[in-house]
Amino acid sequence: MSNCPVCLSIDGFPLKRPPSRNMWTLYFDCPVCGYFGIDDDLAGDFLGENSKGATRRIRAALSHWIRQNQNKSRDTLNVHLETYKEVADGKIGLPTPAKAALSILRYIGDKVQETGEKLDGLPAEFPAEIGTTSRQTAIEIIGQLESRGLISCHDANTLNQYDVIDIDLTLEGWELYQSEQSENNPPDMVSLL
Ligand SMILES: [Zn+2]
Repeated sequence: MSNCPVCLSIDGFPLKRPPSRNMWTLYFDCPVCGYFGIDDDLAGDFLGENSKGATRRIRAALSHWIRQNQNKSRDTLNVHLETYKEVADGKIGLPTPAKAALSILRYIGDKVQETGEKLDGLPAEFPAEIGTTSRQTAIEIIGQLESRGLISCHDANTLNQYDVIDIDLTLEGWELYQSEQSENNPPDMVSLL
């Protein structure tokens, strides 16, 4: 198994190292999903590359869940069948596009503030952090935020697909970023998106 069992490495970012095993758990270090353990029957049967049950939405929601929970836990995150079933049943899902748009603004604002520089490009983990069905969906939302004057970026072609580089917030984007951080004055994304 050379691809990530969750995202199938379809964005073109190969595993950082070969998978390892401890009893019935397989460990993967995926640039998109992060480092996690997964029951081997879940990885092989339910998430196998030929599995029809594991839709793009299910894989994206699971990838997002892994990223969110990795950030909260100090130990290696293990994915069990129960979690997969909750994702398949829609109990664990993806944020709405409006929420994803707000997360994108927050993510870019945080990174630019941290480094003082524009983002050269979108990191591999971007769609999993934000919670979009694919990298292309995340890029499409960025395109909409750009056309609404909240984000500045340039188009690029990397990994043989459409991508964006030199990403920053505009003045309007920074205003929204700052008001979003103030709990008393939440932004009205509906009017912006
Ligand atoms: Zn992955």
